[in-house]
Amino acid sequence: MKLYNTLTRKIENFEPQDAERVKVYTCGPTVYSFAHIGNFTCYVYWDLLVRTLQQQGYKVDRVLNITDVGHLTSDADDGEDKMEKGARREGKTVWKVAEMYMNDFLKNFRALNMVEPSRICRATDFVKEDMTLVDALDKKGYLYDTTDGLYYDTSKFPTYADFAHLDLEHLKAGARVEFSDEKRNVSDFAVWKWIRDGEDHAMKWEYRGRMGYPGWHIECATIIHEVLGEPIDIHCGGIDHIPIHHTNEIAQLEGAYGKKMSNFWLHNNFITIEGQKISKSLGNVYMFDDLAKRGYTHMDYKMWVLQGHFQSERNFSFDDLAAAKQRLLNYRNFAALRWQKEATQMDDVKSAMLEQLDNNLNSAGALAELDKVITKNVPNEAFVQFLDDVFGLDIAKSTPDISDELKEKIAKRFEAKKAKDFATADSLRNEISAEGITLLDGADGSIWQYA
Ligand code: AMP
Ligand code: ZN
Repeated sequence: MKLYNTLTRKIENFEPQDAERVKVYTCGPTVYSFAHIGNFTCYVYWDLLVRTLQQQGYKVDRVLNITDVGHLTSDADDGEDKMEKGARREGKTVWKVAEMYMNDFLKNFRALNMVEPSRICRATDFVKEDMTLVDALDKKGYLYDTTDGLYYDTSKFPTYADFAHLDLEHLKAGARVEFSDEKRNVSDFAVWKWIRDGEDHAMKWEYRGRMGYPGWHIECATIIHEVLGEPIDIHCGGIDHIPIHHTNEIAQLEGAYGKKMSNFWLHNNFITIEGQKISKSLGNVYMFDDLAKRGYTHMDYKMWVLQGHFQSERNFSFDDLAAAKQRLLNYRNFAALRWQKEATQMDDVKSAMLEQLDNNLNSAGALAELDKVITKNVPNEAFVQFLDDVFGLDIAKSTPDISDELKEKIAKRFEAKKAKDFATADSLRNEISAEGITLLDGADGSIWQYA
């Protein structure tokens, strides 16, 4: 299987360390507000990754984290804590806010029919372990103390700039003066934040005799170390994470324990909506509820995502979503043929589709292979199951066989039409379409389809 690896900036042959088990970590959501459809694109791509690995026969050990502490509104370790901001906005405790948005996230994650991760880890459940990592970094001399936190001296990690190809000199020249009071280097970041006198922070833990909370970038390093063990095989996240979040994850974990963090890094690109950046001021922060109001399901959206590639910047439009909805309906009607006609041989199609997916998760290519045959072939149950295994579009379940009674009605209607008894034919067709089914007449009978 070939994957584009951000670490080497190349498409490489993927082999896990263990011949049977693949260790995958995907950076998860910060649960301070509702996730919009842009936030969910990456999880569809990573679900495709998991499913493609499973097709290769691997057991996928996938960990997803939930950021419920420490993520500040600015990546530069200033600004407000996103969780505290959410709590103030809603007049609730941070814990309630985290619970509510985490549940909402998971509800949508499951409605998208994603393979359940082997573990979902909340950052707040790993704070003791964060402290252990901070201690290990301190022992190795990476940290220095400031009034607002323990900072990582990035000049002590010689390969700091490598992952993101950072130009540190250039960064320094562009830095805003106000951050740099106590920071030694512009790229230094807080591994642990102190709560200063007069400052309040709802989530806090005692460490070294003072109250504080973990920096954002430490949770992923800690969870990977504790739950999967480095090196992992594949680490996934958004492209926005490359220069700071992932660079800092690597500096912490590799700095503390000297082992490579991950062999492969996959990064998804962003989507725009109707040609615009997703933003509140443009009123285009669409959630799944907004799609539902316009008649689109989670599966329609998933279909839209699967038509593109994780590395491409993509534009979402409702016209394209409508086209994706129709395409999914075509696949459902193709799958429904398995109850009506003799199955044809589909092994070549399956191999051609898998070949596309093995080529850096080219789902668009795999779908194009499928499109070549849907008007010619009739799938059997195993092929429909294969489609669901690779795409998770819930096709099999949504195309149940119809009742004998309905089948009889379809046959009767066809006979009535042939005998030019149009009154009977029309009335039967009305009864049939009330069940959400349309008919496609052939020479010797009708095929039923989902409307
Ligand atoms: P946020 O909650 O705004 O920090 O977003 C969480 C993550 O969602 C970001 O780090 C991105 O990787 C991802 N994300 C945000 N906006 C988009 C978008 N328009 N398209 C794809 N991914 C996005
Ligand atoms: Zn992360």
